[in-house]
Amino acid sequence: MRTYRGKRHFGRTREPHGDGPGRTGGGDPRFVVQIHDASTLHFDFRLEVDGVLKSWSVPKGPPSDPAQKRLAVPTEDHPLEYREFEGVIAEGEYGAGTVVVWDEGTYRPLPPGRRDRRGLPFADALADGHVSFRLHGAKLRGDYALTRFRGGGKRDSWLLVRERSTGKGGGSGRGAPADPARARSVRSGRTLRQVAAAEPADDEGSRR
Ligand code: MN
Repeated sequence: MRTYRGKRHFGRTREPHGDGPGRTGGGDPRFVVQIHDASTLHFDFRLEVDGVLKSWSVPKGPPSDPAQKRLAVPTEDHPLEYREFEGVIAEGEYGAGTVVVWDEGTYRPLPPGRRDRRGLPFADALADGHVSFRLHGAKLRGDYALTRFRGGGKRDSWLLVRERSTGKGGGSGRGAPADPARARSVRSGRTLRQVAAAEPADDEGSRR
């Protein structure tokens, strides 16, 4: 979380600092997909793992079809509260631009498959460069995998793929919208433009 905080000025952005209460309640871990209209419009894909949101920037968003491989570039861990963040990050700040919560829900790690014979715990499998999981979102429902394909350390890249799956819960749901600028928030029903327009102009943390 030090990297996350080091990039931000919390007097000038309404993004969460991440010092709130940790996880409350039980249940499956959460995921969120945000659309972020920053210097380049992209999707941010985040999975709750060990008390933080592990995060990837996915230019084209989650795929709907197993034939599509989507580049996913890791970004810094975000606090759990970030899954609720929708608003405008002020100009001049890190990640400046508008964010909407496109989809959210829970996920379940999938039992070890062909690629994960060792049956590692999810966090360890992630550190090792491959996880597969079933998303239960409002929009995304189905089995996905994230696989590191280049190097390790800070400059690695991953692929987010839809897994060809059988059985209940493995196969329905859609992928990212073709036109994210017109897609609507799962939390508020608003588009990027509507979220930006609703931002109070004289408030701290707004565009100026
Ligand atoms: Mn982003």
